[in-house]
This record gives sequence, C-alpha cells and structure tokens, in this order.
Amino acid sequence: MTEQDRNNLVELQRIDLKIVAAQQRIREFDPLLDEVEQPALVLESDAEKTRARLKEMNLEERQLELSVAEKRERQKKLDERSGSVRNLREEAAVSAELEMVKRALQNDEQEALSILDQIRKMEGRLEELDEAITEARAFVGPRLEELKSGRGTAEKELDAMEQDRENFVDAMDAMELRLYEGIRRGGRVTAVAALTEDGACSHCFGIVPPQLQNEIRHGKALIRCEGCGVILTVTEHGDELAGVMEAEEPAEEEAAEEPAEEEAAEEPAEEEAAEEPAEEEAAVSQEVSGDTIDEDQVDE
Ligand SMILES: [Zn+2]
Repeated sequence: MTEQDRNNLVELQRIDLKIVAAQQRIREFDPLLDEVEQPALVLESDAEKTRARLKEMNLEERQLELSVAEKRERQKKLDERSGSVRNLREEAAVSAELEMVKRALQNDEQEALSILDQIRKMEGRLEELDEAITEARAFVGPRLEELKSGRGTAEKELDAMEQDRENFVDAMDAMELRLYEGIRRGGRVTAVAALTEDGACSHCFGIVPPQLQNEIRHGKALIRCEGCGVILTVTEHGDELAGVMEAEEPAEEEAAEEPAEEEAAEEPAEEEAAEEPAEEEAAVSQEVSGDTIDEDQVDE
C-alpha cells in the first residue's frame, strides 16, 4: 500500500462518515415533522370523515325529498278520486289507501326533518373543525416550514457529498475500492480505522500482533484487523475516524435486515489469523468489540 493509497482510504472513510452523519441528520427530521403536524393531521382526518358522512346524509335527505314529493302526488290523485267515487266500497278503498299514504308521508317528512337537523349540526361541527384546522396549520406553519427547509438543506448537502464521493472514488485504485466497499457491505460504516499508539485497533480495541503493527506502521501492506476486519492504518485523522463511531448505530440497525452480519460474526478473519499465532487474541477482541466481520473478505 502506498502512502497515497492509504491516504485515499482514510479520506474515503472520512467522506463516508460525513455521509452517514448527513443521512442521520435527515432522518432526524421525520419524528419532528410528525410531531409538529400531528394535531392538524388528527383534525384533518376528523374533518374528512365528517365530510364523507355529511355527503351520505345529504343523499339520504334528497331521496327522502323525492319520496315525499311522490307521496304528495299520490295523495293529490287519491283526493281527486275520492270526489268521484261511484259507491261506498270504492270510497272505503280510496280512503283506506289515502290514510296509508298520509301516514307514510308523515313518516317521511318526520325523517327528513330529523336528517336535516343532523345535517345542520354536522355542518356546524365541520365549520368548527375547519376553523381549528386553519388555526392549527397557522400555528405550526412556520415551524413546519422551518423543518422542511432544514431537511431540504440537509438533503442538498447530502447530494453534494455523494457527488464528491463519486468524483473521489473515480480516482481511486479499483482494488482498494473493492476491498473497502466489501467491508462496508451489509450496512457497516467503518472500513478503515487507525492503529492506536499502544497497538490496538481503534475500532474494536482488539490488540494487533506486533509483527502486523510493524507492517501497518511502515505502511507496506494492507492489513486488516483480525478482530473486526477493518483496514488498519496510521493516520493523523485517527480521532476523526473513531469520533464518528456512534453514527454507526443507526446505520447498522438499518442493515439488520441483512443476514450477512450474523453469519459474519461466526467467522473470524481466518485468512489473517492463519498466518499469525494470534487466534486467541483475535477471538478476544471480537468478544470485546461485539462487532462483526464480513465473511467473504479476503485480504489483498
Ligand atoms: Zn478491529
């Protein structure tokens, strides 16, 4: 590994940590937006239901009106007919029917009145709801705008970072890049970590065998931590690489769907461990870190 390669890997890790932090910042807006909008959303859903019910009732009422008109027409005809009956039997039949129609008409009218009354109440309620919504929206509007614009800005920043990253990796050695991406597959954030002064991996804090420490310090070969699989390097940005490690939590949660982590955890970094008598140490550092290794990473 040349000095430049090493710097590139460290730089890429720094870029990616910034990207992870930016993604986290964007995600953090979601619960805030929900919280601010919640009262207005509840009112709006209430108003929507009321409006739907009101529409149904208006239809119902219109049907009743039609039915009333029909019965009135029928009543008028029966009234006319009762003036021209030819015998008692006919008169009895007409008046019985007339009686029935009148009763049905009364029922319909009663019902129509009751529905009209409900409609009026519901319209009043809807008016109140609409006012409350306007009020709630006006109240949270500025905060909502602020949050949305904040999220928009964060998204633009992220876009720019991703663009920078693309440009950066274009100039990188393809093999180094593949290794780096391989380590990060499955949602891991950290692929490069500094070797601490006392010879530990600054990612999992596993002790690195002295011979490997030397190789890392002289920067000749690309050495990975036996405990957690990250590429170990010596860099002035060590603190920075370690400092953003907390950002790893959410990113790893997201990756929890991927089964690679569990499988990986069972396998130590065999390729390296095989050459060195440091199997025990590797195992210990794995326990300490609770971290995982990608199973399919071969050191190059
Ligand atoms: Zn490690």
